[in-house]
Amino acid sequence: MNKKTVRDIDVSNKRVLVRVDFNVPLSNGIVTDNSRIKAALPTLEYLINHGAKVILMSHLGRPKGFDDKYKLDPVAQTLADLLGREVKKVDAIVGNEVKEAVDKMGPGDVLLLENLRFDEREKKNDPEFARALANLADIYVNDAFGASHRAHASIVGVSQYLPAVAGFLLEKEVDTLTSILEKPERPFVAVLGGSKVSDKIGVIDKLLDVVDALLIGGGMAFTFLKAKGYEVGSSLLEEDKIDFCLQVIKKAEQKDIALYLPSDVVIAQEISPDAEAMVVSVSAIPQGWMGLDIGPDTILVYQGVIKSAKTVFWNGPMGVFEIDQFSRGTEEIAKAIAQSDAVSIVGGGDSIAALKKFHLEDKISFISTGGGASLELIEGKPLPGVEALMSR
Ligand code: ADP
Ligand code: MG
Repeated sequence: MNKKTVRDIDVSNKRVLVRVDFNVPLSNGIVTDNSRIKAALPTLEYLINHGAKVILMSHLGRPKGFDDKYKLDPVAQTLADLLGREVKKVDAIVGNEVKEAVDKMGPGDVLLLENLRFDEREKKNDPEFARALANLADIYVNDAFGASHRAHASIVGVSQYLPAVAGFLLEKEVDTLTSILEKPERPFVAVLGGSKVSDKIGVIDKLLDVVDALLIGGGMAFTFLKAKGYEVGSSLLEEDKIDFCLQVIKKAEQKDIALYLPSDVVIAQEISPDAEAMVVSVSAIPQGWMGLDIGPDTILVYQGVIKSAKTVFWNGPMGVFEIDQFSRGTEEIAKAIAQSDAVSIVGGGDSIAALKKFHLEDKISFISTGGGASLELIEGKPLPGVEALMSR
């Protein structure tokens, strides 16, 4: 990455305003998954150890104005436990209460501001709000990769008023995702699934320029199968994306990329744990039935391709993995990726949820913390939050 990072500046005794992505799931006031908080620890520990006064800011959920349910107090508690030191939490984002708390900070102290989205000016990238945030500090650090595709005040606005550098998480995300696009170890296999073709058009397009093989599963497979002339019953189908799928099929042929579609699928008449389910060839999906997972023959073929890979990128579950009888495809493919010797990179909220469900997170080389941000980076779109940082 050609951007400056916390390593490139002197942070000692400086007030450092860090944008983190602590948008974590909460249940009854408790953080139920602390992965995003853990992911920020390298940057936070570095700043603490180098004597910075660490002021943290994040959004959480989609509150419309102030909302008790989305206060960051549980996040402060979880962070304090992980850091093994006090994290002071203020109930405001900017203003006198915050200024006073910052004035009392010493080197190594950590302060967490209230949920940025309690102020509607955050999403509007309001310059006055950005300036008020910037006034709290001497240096700005962006470590919120997962929010860096949004031009919000805490991501872009604030960087106009302070020296702005990247944290280690942001650096690692950008470096890892760009490196597989620029110089992947080959064969490079991409596994794409999830619900819709339309969500992933840019990603599919970009991956066709770099991969050696593309494995398609999930709901999006049925628009591809329809494009190939199969009847898909009441499976998820995007009629208006059939042409795009045809182009993908053609481009793959021209570029000699092995494009795999399911040969068999698990079908049912409704998406329910109690639905009667069966395995059929993709040429035998009856009317009124929908494909909800890839079948056993497809799993075998996909496992073989993954086994031969040196780099694997996975985004999108192979089926409705939330329901046991449609989860086998996702589980087996996730296992194959986890067991392979390849560099494995996984992105996407639901794909990560699947990894967690099957206890495979530890066996993946890199799990991207950014859903939308990782996909946009792979599509080749500039991320506003990265562009805004100082270049080397
Ligand atoms: P990610 O969050 O990893 O990018 P997506 O959001 O694109 O993944 O897709 C995940 C969703 O796709 C899951 O909720 C899953 O149930 C759904 N899905 C997967 N396969 C199918 C299918 N065959 N039919 C309908 N929905 C599917
Ligand atoms: Mg999703």
